[in-house]
Amino acid sequence: MDIESSSPIARRGLMLVISSPSGAGKSTIARNLLDLDHRFSLSVSVTTRKRRPSEIEGVHYHFITVDEFERLRSGDALLEWAEVHGNLYGTPRDAAEKAMREGRDMLFDIDWQGARQLQEQAKSDIVSIFILPPSIAELKSRLMRRAEDSNDTIAMRLRNASVEIERWRDYEYVVVNDDLDRAFTSVLSIVNAERLRRDRRPGLFDFTAQLLDEAREAAEG
Ligand code: 5GP
Repeated sequence: MDIESSSPIARRGLMLVISSPSGAGKSTIARNLLDLDHRFSLSVSVTTRKRRPSEIEGVHYHFITVDEFERLRSGDALLEWAEVHGNLYGTPRDAAEKAMREGRDMLFDIDWQGARQLQEQAKSDIVSIFILPPSIAELKSRLMRRAEDSNDTIAMRLRNASVEIERWRDYEYVVVNDDLDRAFTSVLSIVNAERLRRDRRPGLFDFTAQLLDEAREAAEG
């Protein structure tokens, strides 16, 4: 049993940022995490990219026009935003801030530019993981296997991979996805350890004070 999840000890919400070059398996890992751990909700980004056939509006992204994006951006409705592979992506501010206020954990599947902006705003709440492919040959074959993007798009994503891989040092944790199960287990271990961090659990003050009272009482009695 996970004692921590049912304990009354309050915990600050975790902002888990996962980034990787396109095709390194980040989205699969993110999906598995959301399926297994219901304390996480996904920050659903807005994007001007065309919807892939398998994607659902409001689940994977909010698909919007460039004009709508500009309106959100100028209205300060985005916590961060970036141009990635020729399209605009952004994190809606309201949903993320609400989750944090309520102490819920949130997963951000965003690129290094977005990770950097979030780190500037909320460093102590952020846990950042960078997923690397085992090789570029494997990255390419995963992009081809997905078969939802055009050849031009795949070529552009491969060209951009080096720019993204160069950012690995910006992240606290780096996981090489040579085996999906192993990589996922590593991500779970990171999440579990981060949830136990003392500075994320202000409720420990009351809890330990109570334990100390009980200990003293027991010693006297
Ligand atoms: P895709 O088009 O494959 O869904 O995503 C392309 C890249 O954009 C991925 O690296 C993904 O993590 C990133 N991305 C998705 N949403 C956001 C966002 O809201 N902000 C930023 N900065 N990057 C995003």
